[in-house]
Amino acid sequence: MKKTKVLFKVLLGVIVLLLVFVIINFIPTWNLKTKGMRRLEGNWVDVYYESEIAAAKDIFQLADTRAKDLADRLGFTEKQNINIYIYDNQSTMQMKKYGFIGPLLGLDWYIGDNIGTNVILTSPANPGKVHNYDSIKNAVLHEMVHGYASILNPKIQLWLTEGLALYLSNGEVLNSKYKNSMHLPSYTDIQTRNPIKFSNMGGYSLAHTYIEYICVTYGWDKVLELIKSENYEKVFGISGEEMYSGWINYFENYDKYIELSTINI
Ligand SMILES: [Zn+2]
Repeated sequence: MKKTKVLFKVLLGVIVLLLVFVIINFIPTWNLKTKGMRRLEGNWVDVYYESEIAAAKDIFQLADTRAKDLADRLGFTEKQNINIYIYDNQSTMQMKKYGFIGPLLGLDWYIGDNIGTNVILTSPANPGKVHNYDSIKNAVLHEMVHGYASILNPKIQLWLTEGLALYLSNGEVLNSKYKNSMHLPSYTDIQTRNPIKFSNMGGYSLAHTYIEYICVTYGWDKVLELIKSENYEKVFGISGEEMYSGWINYFENYDKYIELSTINI
């Protein structure tokens, strides 16, 4: 009896300690603004920045100019609450999503993200080891699409929101050599909500082709309906698994599609 009591106390102590660590870890995420951040107010987006003024103005210019087009495609006719926070250091940006532990995860490629309609971005003036000025600058459009998608569907599936963001901004056309060397994710894989797993399974090179397949086959309006409801049966009259099989087939014949679209151009 005594032993059980001691064990219970130890266990409780460990749980409380863990909770305290978790709470402390996430303190940086409580406020996306850092001390002294300044704001640029646009017609479509607002940008907050630290000391890298020139890079911030450059991003602001691109984001506010392109936002209308992106918003339009996603069915918005007026300014939404899209805020872009640009941090001088990659580590600050990583802390704003994952807390103090963020920069310790060794994610060199991780330079931007969204938290609902708030976009967080590393300043392109300090691009880190994997990216360069332009790749970070263009990533803002990708993150903005995530922001808009989160308004359409706050709990949107990772595979869909990434596919959408890549499709509307920076998804690459796959050349056949690269395509043939790729291992395709399974139907279960594409359900993941884990961004690291998504990245490791080649999601950033593939997910836009899924959206592209749906758009080419069913039209853009249906893509938007899917983004909003994620209900394949209702929107298309087929299951999610059947859509996945259709995409696999499309992907395996992708070379033909690219040749055809090149000829048409
Ligand atoms: Zn993304």
